[in-house]
Amino acid sequence: VGLSRKRLTISSALLAQSFNRGLSSQTQRLEGKVALITGAATGIGKATASKFISNGAKVVIADIQHELGQNTVKELGPNATFIACDVTKETDISNAIDFTISEHRQLDIMYNNAGVPCKTPPSIVDLDLEVFDRIIDINVRGVIAGMKHASRVMIPRRTGSILCTASVTGLMGGLAQHTYSVSKSAVIGIVKSVASELCKYGIRVNCISPFAIPTAFVMEDMNRFFPGVGDEQIMEMVHGFGVLEGTKCEPNDIANAALYLASDDAKYVSGHNLVVDGGFTSFKNLGLTKQNQVQ
Ligand code: NAD
Repeated sequence: VGLSRKRLTISSALLAQSFNRGLSSQTQRLEGKVALITGAATGIGKATASKFISNGAKVVIADIQHELGQNTVKELGPNATFIACDVTKETDISNAIDFTISEHRQLDIMYNNAGVPCKTPPSIVDLDLEVFDRIIDINVRGVIAGMKHASRVMIPRRTGSILCTASVTGLMGGLAQHTYSVSKSAVIGIVKSVASELCKYGIRVNCISPFAIPTAFVMEDMNRFFPGVGDEQIMEMVHGFGVLEGTKCEPNDIANAALYLASDDAKYVSGHNLVVDGGFTSFKNLGLTKQNQVQ
C-alpha cells in the first residue's frame, strides 16, 4: 500500500508538472521562434502577426503596401519588423528570407498568406487569361516561391513550419470565380506535394482554408457586386453566408489556427488543410448564388 501511495504521489506530481508546463506553453506557445508572414500589413496576416507576437515570437511582416506595413509594425511593437516584398518577385521573397536571418539568425515559421481576389467575370467563356496569369502569379507562384526560399534556410536546421492561406473556395466549386478557386485548389495541392519532400528534414507544411471574412479584400470585391450598399450591411451579408449559428468567422479564428499549426502543439501535423468554416463545406450546397460568392 505504501509503495502504491508513493507511486500515486509521484504520478500526481508529474501530472501537475506537465499540466503547469501545458499552462505556460498555452500563453507563450512560440517563445523564441521567428516568423515571416507575407501579406501581413492588414487582415488575416496582421491578426496572425499580432497573435504570434503575443505568444512570444518575433515577426517579420512582408507586404507590398509599404506605408500600411510600417504602421502595422508600429502598432504591433518592437517584436515586429517590416520588409517591402512583392511575392510575385522571387528576389523580393529571397531578400525577405535573408533579411529575417540577418535580423534574427533563424526562420522557424514561414506563413505564405498574401493573396488577392479575382475580378474577372464569373463565366469560363469570358475568362480573361491575362488576369488569370496575374492572379496565379500572386496566389500560387508567390506561395511556391515562399516555400522554396524558406526551405533553403530551414533544411540545414532540419526544422521549421511552413503555412499557407488557401480557402474553402479551393475545396468546393461554385463559391468564387474560377481563377480564384483554381488558385486556392493549387495551394492545397502544393502543400501536400512539398510536405511529402520536406518531412525527411523534420519540416512541416500545412495550410488553412478560411471561410468568408470581411477583410479589405472581400469588402472591395463585394462593393463591386453591390455598389451603393453600405460597408456595415455588406459585412452583415458576408457573415450571413456562414452556417454556424451564434458566431461569425473572424481574422482571429484564422490566427488561432495558424498559431496551432506553427507551434509544437501540431508537431506531428503535416500535409494538412485545416478548414475553418464553421462546418460549411461539410454540408450540402446551401444554394449560394453568383451574387453572394465567397472569396
Ligand atoms: P487583405 O486584403 O486584408 O490582406 C491581403 C494582404 O496581402 C494585404 O496586406 C496586401 O497588401 C497583401 N498583398 C497583396 N498582393 C501582394 C503581393 N503581390 N505581395 C505581397 N503582399 C501582397 O485580405 P485577407 O482576407 O487578410 O487575405 C489574406 C489571405 O487570406 C489571402 O491569401 C486570401 O486569399 C485568403 N483568404 C481570405 C478570405 C476572406 O474571406 N477574407 C477567405 C479565404 C482565404
